[in-house]
Amino acid sequence: MKCYFKETAVLLFCVAVFLISCGKKQEDKNHLNIAVSSYVPYTFAKSVLGNLANLTLLISPGTEAHAFEPTPKTIKDLKQAQVFFYTSNFLEPWALKLDRKAVMLAKNLPQVLPTDPHVWMSFDNAETMAQNLANYIIKIRPNFETRIKQNMIAFFSEINSLKFLYSDILPTCKNRTIYHIGHLAFGYIARDYNLEFKALFSADMDQEPSAKEIAELVKAIKDNKVKYIFSEEQLNPALALTISQETGAQILMLNTIEGISKEDFMEGKTYQTLMLENLKNLAVGLECKRQ
Ligand SMILES: [Zn+2]
Repeated sequence: MKCYFKETAVLLFCVAVFLISCGKKQEDKNHLNIAVSSYVPYTFAKSVLGNLANLTLLISPGTEAHAFEPTPKTIKDLKQAQVFFYTSNFLEPWALKLDRKAVMLAKNLPQVLPTDPHVWMSFDNAETMAQNLANYIIKIRPNFETRIKQNMIAFFSEINSLKFLYSDILPTCKNRTIYHIGHLAFGYIARDYNLEFKALFSADMDQEPSAKEIAELVKAIKDNKVKYIFSEEQLNPALALTISQETGAQILMLNTIEGISKEDFMEGKTYQTLMLENLKNLAVGLECKRQ
């Protein structure tokens, strides 16, 4: 009897080992390591793929995306990735230099503003970028197709809700000008929702505003009795604080999504949740009737 149990235990152990090794083989076959440049491709990849892939964010949380320069760690991370997604050659001119097979997401976009490279701020563009990512992965991993298509339905539904909310709330705003102590990253929102957008820094953040430009903006804020100005997290807050003190206007934050704070990253904030936060702050700052 004892012997019988022992044999059964050995047999079960062998079956368990066999099943685990089979599972591992299956896992290895599907395993996908993806590198992404900034938080824009990161959040789209997360929405499209869920847990189907491991994502490595090259521009780590808390880093200013425009100022990023590849390090030896970037190259090491890229070597371990099977796919590398980036936004565009304007935003990440280093991407193709590091990996000739890098996949650009900002392709075949329905909306293009030549002055503003922050293309994902248009919801139509965000949909196309996510779809480009989905199409690429389905091509190399056809067995992911069903899961990806399910995830895309959820993603499009959330984007549609955002489109509805933006179209519902922003036309009701008393003020139509976004005074932004930050860079030219919200041109698409301004255009899509008929707002005016005044930014102190250029689109690629390579130019500091002059004293004259700052003085002009301060004058405009005072003249128009503006109660709220906007700024962004990835920027040194000193200038926004000075302008706030000088004008009495309160500061509200807008998120460009290309960069992400460590806290927001840990909380797992997505494009969708960050764009909703942007809308909430715009609604307060522009004194919209609907909030
Ligand atoms: Zn930017």
